Amino acid sequence: MAKLGFPFTLGVASGEPSADGVILWTRLAVEPLHGSKPGGMPNQVFSVKWELAEDAEFTRVIQSGTAPAQPDWAHSVHVRVSGLRAWTEYFYRFSVDGHTSPVGRTKTAPGPDSTEPIKVAVVSCQRYEHGFFTVLKHVAEERPDVVFHLGDYVYEYGKPANPQPGRYIRPLEATEECKTLAAYRRRYARYQLDKDLQAAHAAAPWITMPDDHEVRDNYAGLLPGDGSSQSAFLKRRNAAYKAYYEHLPLRVRPVGNNLQFYRWRPYGKVADFMFVDARQYRKGKDMLGVEQQEWLTARLRASTARWKVIAQALFFAPRKFPLEPPSTDAWDGFPDSRAKVLAAATGDLVVLSGDVHNAWAGEFGGGVEFVTSSVTSRPPATDGTAMLALNPHLKFFDGRRGYLVVTAGMSDFTVDYRAVEFVDQPGAPVVTAAGFRVVDSKLQRTDL
Ligand code: FE
Ligand code: CA
Repeated sequence: MAKLGFPFTLGVASGEPSADGVILWTRLAVEPLHGSKPGGMPNQVFSVKWELAEDAEFTRVIQSGTAPAQPDWAHSVHVRVSGLRAWTEYFYRFSVDGHTSPVGRTKTAPGPDSTEPIKVAVVSCQRYEHGFFTVLKHVAEERPDVVFHLGDYVYEYGKPANPQPGRYIRPLEATEECKTLAAYRRRYARYQLDKDLQAAHAAAPWITMPDDHEVRDNYAGLLPGDGSSQSAFLKRRNAAYKAYYEHLPLRVRPVGNNLQFYRWRPYGKVADFMFVDARQYRKGKDMLGVEQQEWLTARLRASTARWKVIAQALFFAPRKFPLEPPSTDAWDGFPDSRAKVLAAATGDLVVLSGDVHNAWAGEFGGGVEFVTSSVTSRPPATDGTAMLALNPHLKFFDGRRGYLVVTAGMSDFTVDYRAVEFVDQPGAPVVTAAGFRVVDSKLQRTDL
């Protein structure tokens, strides 16, 4: 067999931290954008060695093993590591056929009695064509304990025949919208060749929740919104989520139509993070579907953590718009579902969201919401000042690309809004646009 070319072109990642374990990820791809063979890889299984160490130089390797990279799963590797110490930093790498991967840093979650403060970076909406992933470079430099990605990790669109000048910063190869497994795989490969995205994955474990563009713009439940049949759409959605799994450090592999993304991640006594899927189970005016709604209600009621945090894609607080009617692709379109969430939450509820490509902070009866801006995706024309005047419960707007830094402790929950001035070229510095503290389910500025 000919020696394999360098296969770690898409970097390494870790995710789903628990108090005793984490998922390690990589994907072998010698030619990530190959037109017919996924990743340009031979059609055979490779045995990939993994190592986990206490130090970045790997002088104290504490676990190692091998994991199969199978053609059926695009030669992705998912290693479930367990038996680790809580709230501890580790380093990992992979090797195969004489090649060694870059090194990743990860961190386990705190144990159930921990009161240690937690630092989370929150991002969403990284449309490749719209610019450079400078935001993710800054996220990597923050060295957070964990990163939350709240949807639109990739966008399915093809390259338009006549892109508008200045609006198409980094061209895609594909002219067709992604609809097949092969197309989605190439789209993830295109994104994951980006060094800033690789750096952010290598810097901390991620917990991710897809939104619509991982499949198709504004899809809802089993309604594709493009006139295609339900069975054709289900096939497409399964292909899209299979590719999502193949490219991210997820704990659970999708089986057939079973693609459950909603889940709970406890971080000691400080925070319960509930990741909610506001896309896949929609039916009529029901945002979450019966099973997920029951799960969330039970989880919120049972939570004894200082902060109950719902992390999901869509704008949660009510909004009035100066001209247009309220968005139906947000919680305003699902008032009964929102009321059920609020009724189940006792104590301080915090919602983290994304999707709208601008940064917002707001209050709603019973809690506060922090909306992260996009990594690159261009926002709609939004008059932030008019929106704030019309919605006194919304306290902050910023129209730049950026991310959130959340610090949660037993007494304080603070959020810093980080922003960059431009993404049409690399290298924008980061600034802090605002800071907030949660006090009795209200927002208090920390930076004025
Ligand atoms: Fe988006
Ligand atoms: Ca979205």
